[in-house]
Amino acid sequence: MVIKLFNTMGRRKVVFRPLKDKKVGLYCCGPTVYDYPHIGNMKTYVNEDVLRRVLELNGYKVTHVMNVTDVGHLTSQADTGEDKVEMAARIKRTNAYEIARFFAEAFFKDCDLLNILRPTIIVKATDHISDMIEFIKKLEEKGYTYRIEGDGIYFDTSKFKAYGKLTGMNFKKLNKYLKAGARVDVVPGKKSITDFALWKFSPKDVKRQMEWDSPWGVGFPGWHIECSVMSMKYLGDTFDIHCGGVDHIPIHHSNEIAQSEAVTGKRFVKYWVHCEHVLVEGKKMSKSLGNYYTLKDVLDRGYTWREVRYLFISAHYRRQLNFTFEGLNAAKASVKRIIDFLKKLKQVEKGAGTKKFNSLLAKTKKEFLYAVNDDLNLPKALAIVFKFIAYVNKMIELRQLTGGDAEKAIKLILWFDNVLGLKLNDYLVEEVLPDEVRALIDSRERARQAKDFELADRIRETIREKYGIILEDTKDGTRWRRISR
Ligand code: AMP
Ligand code: ZN
Repeated sequence: MVIKLFNTMGRRKVVFRPLKDKKVGLYCCGPTVYDYPHIGNMKTYVNEDVLRRVLELNGYKVTHVMNVTDVGHLTSQADTGEDKVEMAARIKRTNAYEIARFFAEAFFKDCDLLNILRPTIIVKATDHISDMIEFIKKLEEKGYTYRIEGDGIYFDTSKFKAYGKLTGMNFKKLNKYLKAGARVDVVPGKKSITDFALWKFSPKDVKRQMEWDSPWGVGFPGWHIECSVMSMKYLGDTFDIHCGGVDHIPIHHSNEIAQSEAVTGKRFVKYWVHCEHVLVEGKKMSKSLGNYYTLKDVLDRGYTWREVRYLFISAHYRRQLNFTFEGLNAAKASVKRIIDFLKKLKQVEKGAGTKKFNSLLAKTKKEFLYAVNDDLNLPKALAIVFKFIAYVNKMIELRQLTGGDAEKAIKLILWFDNVLGLKLNDYLVEEVLPDEVRALIDSRERARQAKDFELADRIRETIREKYGIILEDTKDGTRWRRISR
């Protein structure tokens, strides 16, 4: 079955045909690591994770590359303002490298919590400075750059004929659009508003923590050059899919295309996939507006990571998602329905499978695959899942489902989960307590008997912190359960 994707380049849904047989090169713009990500950011990464899972379900081998922007992303889109990582280091009175390390770790922790598959290759901008310098040198040789004294080396967008093609606007129109929307401030010395910094000089009055020598002077790379250089280094001059949020279309990705294609003269990316934003009361969730929640904020309110992930996949990735707690409550109810269904299936008494049920399974599987392959239509795919659940629940009620059928239904739900990523298998395995936790529970019991309640509490806390297991003392003894995050 073919996969169709909406390609921002050309703005059409097209059949996906990879460059090399069953291999796919996928690049996703990673986080700028100066603060905790908000759930808007995480929704984009969940959407991208679904894309990867759908490709893998279809038998593709995906090389998924993600960058970590630890230098060069300025507070203004116009290449002015402060470097976000250096600014965080200044405010927190710590080292910029330490800030980047800390928040990159926090980001990947959130990814793990949301069951986002780890990229095949994770790359840091600060580890690729010499590659970036070489790349800028090539642009310079080809005549695409100019210098603004005391500021930096800029890319002359008027020299790249197809500049802005990703936006569907030509050079003139895009310049007008950016000016009118005041999306980019005017910078003295820039020839066109669309021109962007390749290399910024370190300011004269402030000592930067992250700076490098270069043929043009001491400084640091621009944010856009990072993604061009690192994606091409690991995936080649032309690769299959490039992802990001829709905010990247007019500036960041337009600039990546210009630099990359100016250097190679070849098409940079075959398919551009962009995820729509999470909104709060009609406005983009963002750090600057302060209208954001982190994953921790939401988990602290008692929701589970499954419910958050479900919320993100229940809306089409190209649809804006208005974040509300009512929406999250609806996601909670849906997740519960799936889990209750699995538990019910497990209880169906043994018996042989039936032919009639096999055809229902095959039909449902095909419909699901068709939906996810149709530009990742997850809302449709989930509707198919729930139609199946309703039908089978009715069969259980009427005692028409055999144990063999139930086993196959479980397998199908787990097959759906290859895309949904809700770790539904957790509800099927009989949980066994790890030996070391069993030993700790025994020592806590001995402490309780010796009336050393302080020690008993400490052990209980260790078990919770280290193993994510909560102990409850009941009249029938100590019970345990995992924290459902
Ligand atoms: P940043 O760390 O700002 O570069 O953003 C990381 C990713 O999150 C990028 O792909 C952005 O396009 C995306 N993003 C930023 N804000 C939102 C939002 N409100 N909803 C969805 N994605 C977002
Ligand atoms: Zn990028």
